Amino acid sequence: MKELKILLTSLVLVFSSCHSDENTINPKSILPEDETALICTFDLRENPNNLTLKPNAAIIAWPRWQTGQTVKIKFLDGDATVQEKVKRIASEWTEYANLKFEYVAVNEYADIRIGFNVGSYGAWSILGMKSAYGNTDEQSMRLGPLTAANEASVRRTVLHEFGHALGLIHENASPVATIKWDLPKVYKYYNELNGWSKEEVDEFVIKSPESTNYTQYDPLSIMHYYVPASLTTDGKGVNEMSELSQTDQISINKWYPFPIRSIIESGERIDAIPWMKSIKSPNGRYSLGFSRGCLYIIDLTNETFIWQVGDSTFSRFSSCYLELNGNITIQGQRSLTGGIKHTTWSSDTSEFPGASLHLQDDGDLQLIYNGAVKWSSKNGKM
Ligand SMILES: [Zn+2]
Repeated sequence: MKELKILLTSLVLVFSSCHSDENTINPKSILPEDETALICTFDLRENPNNLTLKPNAAIIAWPRWQTGQTVKIKFLDGDATVQEKVKRIASEWTEYANLKFEYVAVNEYADIRIGFNVGSYGAWSILGMKSAYGNTDEQSMRLGPLTAANEASVRRTVLHEFGHALGLIHENASPVATIKWDLPKVYKYYNELNGWSKEEVDEFVIKSPESTNYTQYDPLSIMHYYVPASLTTDGKGVNEMSELSQTDQISINKWYPFPIRSIIESGERIDAIPWMKSIKSPNGRYSLGFSRGCLYIIDLTNETFIWQVGDSTFSRFSSCYLELNGNITIQGQRSLTGGIKHTTWSSDTSEFPGASLHLQDDGDLQLIYNGAVKWSSKNGKM
């Protein structure tokens, strides 16, 4: 339950330290000439200072795609193997963002146009929907020659650049970033790495605190620059990420939400419904969830539990069904090793085959059978 509470509210994230390169600053060593370790050159193309920062991850209000939109994508080069890898990795964003990626042939119109070897140096993407404006024949994203890179590096590059393509800017651009930069070293590092001036480093990397709406700085974001520990005064760098952080997932889901779903159909496994497609009352105020052996309803306006059943001590292999006979059941084991599955809670409504569950606008969960309410979370069996 606690985990879910954390997921739903602003996240308290532990700053992860990177102590891999304590003393020496040698950018050349992490930037081979064959481009196997690409630095994102997004900031050279887009000026984040002109963008409006919004809560949760450094995401902008515009240019976003339309929620639910099919975004057409094509590859300008690259073999089928690497293209398929990009498709597979990029699709992770659409698990949380209500967008569809459709890949089209190179001679067709595409909103996003990806090159691997073609295009100016680095890995980059035009920000969000801007790639669908202007000259739509031009490349809008560069991933670099991914074939030489290891899996984690490929994942990082693809997820990160697609993050830009969905409207995300660099997370260390967030005004609440708490990195304690060792400035002389930072200027030297990025000058040797990219040839950037002090002003460019200030603009692209350091950023000045701005009075904008923000909630929580996320050093685990896929949109964060890699920060060597040697460039900070407290020895706390930021590791290279190759997964979407929880804040990435929650933020992108807030911007591209899935339609509100209020009904659970007969026979549906409630615990298997992912949080981003969770059951909500039609007015969006209440949410039904299942975690650690318990089924619960949350009032999202103040994030309090208004109803809860089940037994958290039987949270192992726990499941929750609306059975075909109309019964709601929660099952689980006390331990990981063996033991039988116990039913820890039941609505005792098995005489209503085909009944469905509806989360109503007042937060009441109702079992409806032939148009009549037979059980509800507020009143029990009727
Ligand atoms: Zn970037």
